[in-house]
Amino acid sequence: AAASAEAPAPAAPESARPIPAVVGADLEVPVKGGRLVRYANLDYAASAPCLEPVSAAVTAALPAYSSVHRGAGYASQLTTARYEQARHTVRAFVGARPSDAVVFTRNTTDATNLLARCLPEGTTVVVFDTEHHASLLPWRDAVRLAPPAFPGEAVRAADEALAGVEGPKLLVVTAASNVTGELWPIAALAHIAHRHGARILVDAAQFVPHRRLNLTALDLDYVAFSGHKLYAPFGAGVLVGRGDWLAGGEPYLKGGGAVRAVGEAPEAAEWHEDPEPRHEAGTPNVLGAIALAAACDALNATGWTALVREEERLLARLRAGLATVEGVRELALWGADHPRVGIVSFTVDGFTAREVAEALSAEYGIGVRDGKFCAHPFVRHLLGTADGGCEDGTASAVRASIGIGTTQEHVDRLIEALRAIVAR
Ligand code: PLP
Repeated sequence: AAASAEAPAPAAPESARPIPAVVGADLEVPVKGGRLVRYANLDYAASAPCLEPVSAAVTAALPAYSSVHRGAGYASQLTTARYEQARHTVRAFVGARPSDAVVFTRNTTDATNLLARCLPEGTTVVVFDTEHHASLLPWRDAVRLAPPAFPGEAVRAADEALAGVEGPKLLVVTAASNVTGELWPIAALAHIAHRHGARILVDAAQFVPHRRLNLTALDLDYVAFSGHKLYAPFGAGVLVGRGDWLAGGEPYLKGGGAVRAVGEAPEAAEWHEDPEPRHEAGTPNVLGAIALAAACDALNATGWTALVREEERLLARLRAGLATVEGVRELALWGADHPRVGIVSFTVDGFTAREVAEALSAEYGIGVRDGKFCAHPFVRHLLGTADGGCEDGTASAVRASIGIGTTQEHVDRLIEALRAIVAR
C-alpha cells in the first residue's frame, strides 16, 4: 500500500484537464458614453492573448538571466539551459525529426525570409496567391498559382507547376488561411511535392494555435510559426526543418555566436555550419523562446481534443449567428462546409469594413480586425474586385477570430452588435 501511495498519479484523461486561463481576461475598456465594458477580444488571428502558464514561465526566468552560450556564470548557464530546453520543447511540439534544425527567429515572416535566403542557387519556388504576404513575398521570381476552386484543384495545380521543373524546388503553402480559417490539404501537397523531388514549406502561423501539427507524420520539410499567435507574447518565432539548405546559406546575421573563429582579415570568418548557431547571431530573444515553449507545453498539457471541441462549439455559434444578420456575407474559398479553424471574415452590405470594426470597438468593446489581412491578392479574389488599394480601402473585410479565453458572451455580443449596426 505504501508503495502504491508513492507511485505517481496517473495523468488525468485529456477531457478532464482544465483549459488554461488567459492573462487579462477581465480587462475593461471604455465605450461611447464613458461606460466601461469587459473587452471582447475577437482578434486572436492577429495576436492571441498570453496564457497564464506562459506568463508564469517568463516571470520565473526573470530573477537570473544572462546571455546564452557564452558565460561560465550561474545565470548564463541557467539561461542557456532554459533556451535549449525551449528549442527541445518546440521540436517535440511539432513532431520534428531528430535531424531537423529548430532555428529561433523573430516571427513567421522572419522564418520564411530566412529560408528564402538559404535556397540553393536556381531554386524554383511555387506559391499560391492565397498566401499571407509573409509566405508570398520573400521569394524571387516565384511561380504564382491562382486560388484553387477546390482542395483537389490545389493539388493538381501544384502537380502541374512542379512537373518538369529542373533543379531544386520548393512549394510554399499555408496550413490554415489567416483570412478564411480554411484548412489546406497539406499532406496531399507534401506528397505531390516529394513526387517531383520538391520540398514543402508550411506556414503554420494560424494552424498551430488550433490543431496539433506533426511534421514527421505529415512528411513536411519546413514549418514556420510565431509565438504571438500561439498565446505567447511578442518577439519569437521559429523555423523548423531540414538543416542542409540552412547550413549552406549565408548566416542570417553576421556576428558573435554564428562564427566559430575569426582571423585577422575581416573576411576571415569561419561560420558555424549547424543552422542554429549559424542563423542566431547576437544575443537571442531568450524570454520570447521560453514563452513560446511554455505555450507549447500548456497546449499539450490541456489536450487538443478539449481545445478543438470548445473552439468548434463557439465557431459554429459564431457562424450560425452571422448567418442570421441581414447583409452579412461570410468569405470562403471552398464553401461553408470546408473545415476551418476559429477564423471568420465577412463583409456587411452598405458598410465599409472599417465602419463596422470601429463601431464594434467604440460602442461595444469588441476587438476585430478589418482590412485585407496582409493577404491582398487573396482578399481581392474573395471579394471579386480588382481594387489594389491599401488596408482601409472599401474592398476590405472584417475578421473575427477566436481561441482559448473566448466565451459565448463574446460571440453573442458580436452578433447582437452587428444586428444593431445593420439596423441603423
Ligand atoms: N502567416 C500567416 C498565415 C499569418 O496569419 C501571419 C500573421 O498574420 C503571418 C504569416 C506573419 O506572422 P508574423 O507577423 O508573426 O511574422
